[in-house]
Amino acid sequence: RDDLRGTEPYGAPQLDVPVALNTNENPYGPSERLVKAIGEAAAEVAAGLNRYPDRDATALREDLAAFLDTDTPGAGLTAANVWAANGSNEIIQQILQAFGGPGRTALGFEPSYSMHPIITRVTATTWVNAHRDADFGIDPEAAVAAVERHRPDVVFLTSPNNPTGTALPPQVIEAVLAAAPGMVVVDEAYAEFRREGTPSALTLLPGNPRLIVTRTMSKAFAMAGTRLGYLAADPAVIDALLLVRLPYHLSAVTQAVARAAVAHGDELLATVDLLRRERDDLVAWLRREGLAAADSDANFVLFGTFPDRRRIWQGLLDRGVLIREVGPPEWLRVTVGTPDEMAAFRTALKEIL
Ligand code: PLP
Repeated sequence: RDDLRGTEPYGAPQLDVPVALNTNENPYGPSERLVKAIGEAAAEVAAGLNRYPDRDATALREDLAAFLDTDTPGAGLTAANVWAANGSNEIIQQILQAFGGPGRTALGFEPSYSMHPIITRVTATTWVNAHRDADFGIDPEAAVAAVERHRPDVVFLTSPNNPTGTALPPQVIEAVLAAAPGMVVVDEAYAEFRREGTPSALTLLPGNPRLIVTRTMSKAFAMAGTRLGYLAADPAVIDALLLVRLPYHLSAVTQAVARAAVAHGDELLATVDLLRRERDDLVAWLRREGLAAADSDANFVLFGTFPDRRRIWQGLLDRGVLIREVGPPEWLRVTVGTPDEMAAFRTALKEIL
């Protein structure tokens, strides 16, 4: 209990507001065609729900491997390289159950995704923290120094990073991989939103058995409600995860729905281009308004700086726009929504400023 004190439970309020820009979801829901396909997929498994699901999620892992191959051609991934769980949060938990635990250490570079330290502590792993630069990047030399100082069993690198939106160049990941004595997890929850020319860490997988790349269907895939996260890694990593997973962790319905979503991947990911354009417009607008806005390879933007960010956050909420009070103390994070939602955000923010 003492070890967990000070780690608040995941605190994003689920408020009923007209404009919810606080949890980095895709504002465009599945199309009518996909909703129909999901219904059919669920109906097909319904008749067999008296039986336990495929505990290895084989067909889904094959589909996800094929999808990752289109994302990063040449990665050469098969189902043996892919593992799936209930959201990437559960993926992270399974990684820490397998490679962390009492007497072991995980290192992160803050500000970053708040669940990494929380799940670390929940699995009785020790959390150690290094810092990002002023521009929210990670200096490779500083990263290597932190790795050498702490000798962590697990390193978390998030790219694009939440809440800053910044992506890491492969050189930083390679430097950490070369120095790290244990596993290196690159959390790529927002990979599909990355800008042209920003490579995925999937390119580094061949020949790197200590690298794990995590992904999710909660963001670009617009399937946060499905709870489906996955990872790509050396098959030996997946063998280790098999030791800690619950025997039937992914329901048959989840597997069927996720497979339908992957089959309609092109349709779902079509919204990514719209959101990237909206994001770039938002960054440009914030800067024109004289505010600071971090570069973003994700579907959200960290902006500031405000001596009293609570006043801005509350002012937006009073106008029906919920964003997130997260990251360094003078900054706020806004998720990219539809053009109408972004217009509401801009109008409200201008009024407050
Ligand atoms: N990783 C990062 C960096 C995130 O921002 C999030 C969610 O916000 C997750 C992982 C967890 O996503 P999920 O459990 O929905 O897959």
